[in-house]
Amino acid sequence: MKRLEREQVTVSAMVGIWCRDQHGQRELCPECRALLDYSRERLNRCQFGDAKPTCKKCPVHCYQPQKREAMRIVMRYAGPRMPWRHPLLSLLHLVDGKRGPKKRP
Ligand code: SF4
Ligand SMILES: [Zn+2]
Repeated sequence: MKRLEREQVTVSAMVGIWCRDQHGQRELCPECRALLDYSRERLNRCQFGDAKPTCKKCPVHCYQPQKREAMRIVMRYAGPRMPWRHPLLSLLHLVDGKRGPKKRP
């Protein structure tokens, strides 16, 4: 799986954990769906492309402040739960987080 794809799968797994635990939904509720769609759009337009840092470490932060805060809350909750629910993904995400940002060639 390529870096950006992996990032999308990871984010969607995290929003899924959040929504299931906080909103009691098996499918994403409209609010979480909107947040995930937004992040997907940001990822697709990420100026770093496949060389992107994790968004948390990004020097640019292309999210709107409100969305960034919403995502921060989701990540803070889902982050520690990821190793239990999605061990492989969270391991890969950890590795990705060690890399610094690089510009697209
Ligand atoms: S926050 Fe940074 S790394 Fe994340 S999508 Fe936006 S530009 Fe790319
Ligand atoms: Zn939800």
